[in-house]
Amino acid sequence: MSDALTTLEIGEDYPELRESVRRICAGYPGPYWQKLEETDGYPTAFVDELTAAGFLGALIPEEYGGSGLPLRAAAVILEEINASGCVASQGHAQMYIMGTLLRHGSEEQKRRYLPEIAAGRLRLQAFGVTEPTSGSDTTKLKTRAVRDGDHYVVTGQKVWTSRALHSDMMLLLARTTPADQVAKRTEGLSVFLVDLREHRGQGLEIRPIKAMINHNTTEVFFDNLRVPAENLIGEEGRGFRYILDGMNAERILVATEALGDGRWFIRKATQYANDRVVFGRPIGANQGVQFPIARAWAELEAADMVCRRAAALFDAGRDCGADANIAKLLASEAAWHAGEAAMQTFGGFSYAKEYEIERKWRETRLYQIAPISTNLVLAYVGQHVLGMPRSY
Ligand SMILES: Cc1cc2nc3c(=O)[nH]c(=O)nc-3n(C[C@H](O)[C@H](O)[C@H](O)COP(=O)(O)OP(=O)(O)OC[C@H]3O[C@@H](n4cnc5c(N)ncnc54)[C@H](O)[C@@H]3O)c2cc1C
Repeated sequence: MSDALTTLEIGEDYPELRESVRRICAGYPGPYWQKLEETDGYPTAFVDELTAAGFLGALIPEEYGGSGLPLRAAAVILEEINASGCVASQGHAQMYIMGTLLRHGSEEQKRRYLPEIAAGRLRLQAFGVTEPTSGSDTTKLKTRAVRDGDHYVVTGQKVWTSRALHSDMMLLLARTTPADQVAKRTEGLSVFLVDLREHRGQGLEIRPIKAMINHNTTEVFFDNLRVPAENLIGEEGRGFRYILDGMNAERILVATEALGDGRWFIRKATQYANDRVVFGRPIGANQGVQFPIARAWAELEAADMVCRRAAALFDAGRDCGADANIAKLLASEAAWHAGEAAMQTFGGFSYAKEYEIERKWRETRLYQIAPISTNLVLAYVGQHVLGMPRSY
């Protein structure tokens, strides 16, 4: 067993890192997030401060200007952001999107983009995979990129491309060889870096989607958009594999982020259960109030162990597909149960925006749907881990 696995820590690992994240988050309390929601605003000041402190470049190796930290440290950063009541998802994508560039980009691409991202001069926050008609069936995506001299011409549409209006570059997955001309549907897809600044209004249109939470998510339309061929990452046709590589990191990070929400809910619910007196005693003295909070906490602890194991496997360079998926499944459900416990504990006051329970409750629901829905995780476990027949 590798060192990363034998040194699996219990309790608060990276205490100093956690403390620095908490210090920044303390400057962005509830009213900051409430105001942004009212205006569909983006937390530019918050994301800029995280970037300046080096947190969003945590995974970029030191030779490219980043902190070169392991995935577990990045996960801890996101966990603390959410546990502080802030919203990690507004900046998290940069951490895992750049992984595709780091692992599969050319040395020239890495030298050109990674130091800029690490320094906060370039935002790579948008990831264009999902399309309206193909959904979870990624290999059926319809966006085409056709080679034309030293460019690719891109036509198609993405949906739920979060932060596209607050990102300089986008990582795009498009089909370069039609599905009926490849042996397997996973072949013939390619990954590109698209410069969103250069192209808006010239073959590229971005429209915000009004959503249940303030996630700054969008639809992106490509109409004969010319992308320089030098922006292709790795080899043409192998993009699906490159994206899959990054998805395990994404699932581990998002799972740990969900744990952060869960911890926030438990802290708020416990405090309120101790303070709120009804029928002459704190409501937390009633087991009907206390037990759902205690159960959710137990579920979070169990999910935390799997998140740590998945990150340890990833950091040790070992296969972590099953653990990454299971971590996402368990953490998203544990966070939701913690949210439900908090909603019930706060009673009517959970509906008052100033308590923020309803905001976090809406936000934490997403983890069961994106970046991969619960059913698709279960399908992975059923088929790849347990060897049962495929449903698709
Ligand atoms: C707020 C938000 C932000 C997002 N950000 C991004 C982003 O930045 N970039 C990006 O590319 N995508 C993003 N997404 C998209 C997200 O990853 C997808 O919504 C998600 O993967 C599910 O795809 P879908 O919505 O098309 O659902 P569908 O694939 O249409 O599935 C609908 C339901 O059917 C179930 N289902 C489908 N097939 C099966 C099956 N074979 N067996 C069992 N159940 C099945 C699914 O589990 C799901 O519950 C975002 C989504 C949201 C809501």
